[in-house]
Amino acid sequence: MKKYLNDPKIYLISKPSVNWESIAALLNDEELPPVPESIRAGNDDSGSIIEVSARLCYMSFGRGRKDIEDFVNNLLAKGDGSVFEHVNYGFVITGVSRSLTHELVRHRAGFAYSQRSQRFVDESSSPFVIPPAIAKNANTKSEKILREAIENSTEAYNSLVIELEKTLPEKLFETQWDRRKAVRQAARAILPNATETKIFVTGNVRAWRHFIEQRGAGYADWEIRKLAINILNILAKEAPLLFGDFTINDLPDGTKTAKPKYSKI
Ligand SMILES: Cc1cc2nc3c(=O)[nH]c(=O)nc-3n(C[C@H](O)[C@H](O)[C@H](O)COP(=O)(O)OP(=O)(O)OC[C@H]3O[C@@H](n4cnc5c(N)ncnc54)[C@H](O)[C@@H]3O)c2cc1C
Repeated sequence: MKKYLNDPKIYLISKPSVNWESIAALLNDEELPPVPESIRAGNDDSGSIIEVSARLCYMSFGRGRKDIEDFVNNLLAKGDGSVFEHVNYGFVITGVSRSLTHELVRHRAGFAYSQRSQRFVDESSSPFVIPPAIAKNANTKSEKILREAIENSTEAYNSLVIELEKTLPEKLFETQWDRRKAVRQAARAILPNATETKIFVTGNVRAWRHFIEQRGAGYADWEIRKLAINILNILAKEAPLLFGDFTINDLPDGTKTAKPKYSKI
């Protein structure tokens, strides 16, 4: 029995932290006032990293702006986006389709990716992601058509693997492992876009903001839009100063959109 998935799972794996001792040493060495209160942003170090990097440009530690919120909002409003690149968050995302990750990896600037390989990993018992429009119509003809197509492709994948394992000439390969890889890389040709995949994505705040703005918009595909909004919810909790300007709205079709106050910083 195939496993069908409806929702992504998102694991926050890495997040920023500040070495306050080093900041104190820097300020001391530069004969600047001790760590200013403005840098302290509650339990969240992300805003502080941005303040340190922005203040370094002007050596303005301890001067101007009433607090860190005012400081970060001013940078967002001016579009001083480069300092937001110092702050990175990494997620492992599972339960998403290959069509989603094909769109995700188009986001180049400021992102790093590591994705489950269909050449190395056997896909014969992979789950599949039901596209949201079909999930909304559960138990209808459209879901039946999808499931039948998926069952057929899984069967074809397994048959191809068996056939290629029997027939691919051993002499073409240095090792058995190379041969197995060749078998899987050929058989994956018939796997559907709905095949589930897993991906580790690390991005800086400027990049995540751009991703959420593009993929949280009403014209984005429903599956990646849901992912973008779920990621926004996590990041807005982690770093409210850096993602708090996004608003989430409900659409009549039951989906949501996200829009930032400060666009493409
Ligand atoms: C709703 C929607 C529909 C889409 N449909 C299609 C489609 O039909 N076909 C298709 O091919 N793609 C499509 N895309 C993908 C889209 O064209 C972008 O590739 C993707 O959204 C990443 O955007 P980006 O290049 O701005 O992001 P990133 O690659 O993360 O880049 C961020 C920003 O950095 C700058 N930048 C990055 N690289 C360069 C560079 N090489 N030179 C100069 N500046 C650079 C740009 O300002 C860019 O906006 C679609 C995207 C969306 C949101």
